[in-house]
Amino acid sequence: MGSLYLTRIKPNEREELIKKLLEAQNYKCFICREKVDLTLHQVDIDHVVPLKLGGKDDPSNFAITHSSCNRSKQDSDLRIARILHNFSKISEKTLREKGVSPNLSDILSEYGGSRYKLKFKIEEKKIKFSFPELGSNSINEYPIFVDELSGFRYFFGLFPIEYLHHDERINPRSIGKNITKLIKEFFLKRPQLHITLGYIITKMELLK
Ligand SMILES: [Zn+2]
Repeated sequence: MGSLYLTRIKPNEREELIKKLLEAQNYKCFICREKVDLTLHQVDIDHVVPLKLGGKDDPSNFAITHSSCNRSKQDSDLRIARILHNFSKISEKTLREKGVSPNLSDILSEYGGSRYKLKFKIEEKKIKFSFPELGSNSINEYPIFVDELSGFRYFFGLFPIEYLHHDERINPRSIGKNITKLIKEFFLKRPQLHITLGYIITKMELLK
């Protein structure tokens, strides 16, 4: 959908607007996050949230993209287009370097994940841990539950991506193109899958 706001402003106002938006975006394209050079590139001003989804037709909802990125965007919502573009980039890279589609470890490494081993201890019915590598020495704890049928101990917790690792035994599959629909659903806060599963190997279990 076109922008009434943009058709009404004068060419010099448009130039000013582009400069202002670019500055706010650190001179990077909203979709591909590569540098924007106004001498070398053609750019578009586009709505971040499309008008048809309730986005405003004013500068608070405008972003600068390379024209080519805007033409080949995979979603009309620029926030989703940016995520999908990044996923395509990761897919191309793993295909080129390893000859396969990416799996979770490729995604984690792209976002700074899987960097540290988690140090933890179990005391009574609590698991305690800290994230010293991230500069935080505060001790966090979560209650441990026991599944009556299997005897498995479990807890629910939130962990920084730096402490999350991919395990091919849990999920050996690579991530295919069909993930794009799920990415959109997650972005709209409509999760389609169960809560993420993970596990921790305690020293006792390692000795078995
Ligand atoms: Zn771009």
